[in-house]
Amino acid sequence: MGEHSAGGHSAGRGPREPRGGPGRRALLVGGAAGALGVGGFAARDTLSRWWWRYSGSETPRVEGEVDHAGAEWVPASSANYRQASRPRDYGIDRVVIHMPEATYPITLRVFQDPGHGAATHYVVRSEDGHIAQLARELDVAYHAGHQGFNERSVGIEHEGWADRPEYLTDALYESSARLVAGICDRYGIPVDREHIVGHNEVPDVVRVCPGPHWDWDRYIELVRRAAGAA
Ligand SMILES: [Zn+2]
Repeated sequence: MGEHSAGGHSAGRGPREPRGGPGRRALLVGGAAGALGVGGFAARDTLSRWWWRYSGSETPRVEGEVDHAGAEWVPASSANYRQASRPRDYGIDRVVIHMPEATYPITLRVFQDPGHGAATHYVVRSEDGHIAQLARELDVAYHAGHQGFNERSVGIEHEGWADRPEYLTDALYESSARLVAGICDRYGIPVDREHIVGHNEVPDVVRVCPGPHWDWDRYIELVRRAAGAA
């Protein structure tokens, strides 16, 4: 897949250096924040977000690179997420837990379908905890059914059905917990139920996912343990 290639970057310029040079950026951001006074912090935040989105200075990527060691790169259709430069343009402070009501291979196939309109960053296999990464954490994947949550979160599907607890294996819980511990570590996200949520807890979203059998106490404890061991 070529859509992540860095062909848009002109030769000879450092990949992180914005077009027009850093001086112009400092002037633009500093000047606007200064003029806005008390609202400066929020204004600065907004400005830098727009800057990263439109400056052409996308975060460099390597095709096939994954954010979680051991994950298998199985890219989603580019119609099911949008490229971003998180956490520079959008801060990441939530992890959203899903259950797809489908098997692992079907879930991957659906997320590779451009007509589906949704994908998570990761899918975890029930049998052995194997993890596929479908979108980079840099990018905004359409998984939460809520724009603000999509922009601020990493989404993870767990093979299975909400009413079939046999899919919730030790391997699935433990592998997912290690994945989430790494995400929390990368972005400074607290390991608690305010920041690690079910899809059913996303505001304005009516979903069962991940379902009544998902053992939150056990899961959070596993994430804490994995975070401590990291
Ligand atoms: Zn869901």
